[in-house]
Amino acid sequence: MKAAVCEVCLKNDMLCEGCSKRLEEGEISEEAVELSRYLYSLVDEYPYLEDIEISEIYVGEDVIVIVASEDDVGKVVGKGGEIVKKLASEVDGAIRVVEVSDNLKKFSKNLLPDVKIYGINRVFSPGEDYYKVVVDSDDSSRIMLKEDEFAEVVERVTGEKAKLSFK
Ligand SMILES: [Zn+2]
Repeated sequence: MKAAVCEVCLKNDMLCEGCSKRLEEGEISEEAVELSRYLYSLVDEYPYLEDIEISEIYVGEDVIVIVASEDDVGKVVGKGGEIVKKLASEVDGAIRVVEVSDNLKKFSKNLLPDVKIYGINRVFSPGEDYYKVVVDSDDSSRIMLKEDEFAEVVERVTGEKAKLSFK
């Protein structure tokens, strides 16, 4: 399994030097470590979880976003959502499992599955270009991520800057 921490750290309660450095530097969060370990603990029951690759676990205030490869999204969700339900009850909150993409447009759509997106346009601004993701303001409650959280998870995954804009 590839998750927020290395395989050794998935199996142990302590963090290795490399993983604790990543934690200190804010590359991963405590919650991501705990959730990765919990997911790993399910391998006995669901052996196919052994091979999954999680590229990011982003902890927002109202939702945790788990970003996985295309083949692994279904595995993390589980049959009839049984695994994602376990994860949600473990963290006592909402979980969204999203397919990874380094393409900002594609990833933004993956990240906002139930939100109407009018357009995603590159904005050229001095010093800092970004993508403006124009969404329907009626769908704002479905985003679940705050604007700065959306921008952060998009940047972590795609390396590009994005801003939500409501219409
Ligand atoms: Zn480690």
